[in-house]
Amino acid sequence: MTKAFSCFPYRYLPQDILMEALDNELECVSIGQSVEGRSIYCLRLGTGSKKILGWSQMHGNETTTTRGLFDFIERIKGDQQLLRQCSFAFILQLNPDGAFRYTRENANKVDLNRDALDVSQPETKAFMDFFEAYAPDLCLNLHDQRTRFTVGATKKEAALSFLAPSADNARTFTKARIEAIRVISYVYLQFNRSVQSRIGRFDDSFNAQCFGDYLTQKGVPTILVEAGQWGSDYDRVISRRLVYETLQHIVEGFCKAPLETDALETYLSIPENTQYGYDLGYFDPTTQYWLGMRYSEHLQDEAVVFREESFEKLDPTANDFYYFRG
Ligand SMILES: [Zn+2]
Repeated sequence: MTKAFSCFPYRYLPQDILMEALDNELECVSIGQSVEGRSIYCLRLGTGSKKILGWSQMHGNETTTTRGLFDFIERIKGDQQLLRQCSFAFILQLNPDGAFRYTRENANKVDLNRDALDVSQPETKAFMDFFEAYAPDLCLNLHDQRTRFTVGATKKEAALSFLAPSADNARTFTKARIEAIRVISYVYLQFNRSVQSRIGRFDDSFNAQCFGDYLTQKGVPTILVEAGQWGSDYDRVISRRLVYETLQHIVEGFCKAPLETDALETYLSIPENTQYGYDLGYFDPTTQYWLGMRYSEHLQDEAVVFREESFEKLDPTANDFYYFRG
């Protein structure tokens, strides 16, 4: 009996709740320890020659992709044909201390996604050691993105964003980057219509301290997946489903022979993310201005609550804004 979609309906997902739900039959090994001594677990499936390494919650408060990845594992664990073709290694929570505290950073207050070169944190070291030993053919870097992100000038929220990270400052289309682009363009063509064009392309400025940029530079195709939010679904149940479907399309696209000759063109046609999203918008009759409010997330009694963080006065002539709550 599959547990997909029935576990973890909410945003807060500490390690003990995740591990309790994981299928005991699956191969799950510790690849290292966090700052506070929590094990960093990696799930292994399949015996195929195409090796895919995915990780989620390197930012501890970004649980939507972990939930989608859990559903994906539930879906593929019995798919013998796929498991003969591919091998998977999934680190569901690279930052278990951050997952417990519901923080982006680890217990030393370090953003692991700015530590790829320094390897100053035990979580980064565990990852890099595993990466070297496993030698994947494709990496999947899974995150949540904030509600500020919108799709180009479309007035739509970015329910998903993708990126084939750069390998240098010139943003060269290296062989590894082109392979990531090929797979993303496949996913986009399969998927964009059904999500009503709610897919954006993430900023590709190069930063060698970011995992995706670092791994692309090492010659391994890497895809960044950012789960956004669909409308007022603050529990992100819809985008969890989209992550699950994205992972299916990624694996399909990766396993297929490179068919598309215009993958780069398709990729570049994905609108770049804009930041016109506000959690709440309303018209102030006194000033005759629209006000945009953004929320911040807080952990309270083991649940995520949203509080007002900032107000912005928006240009009355501009109508590019998207409000998650009207
Ligand atoms: Zn993140």
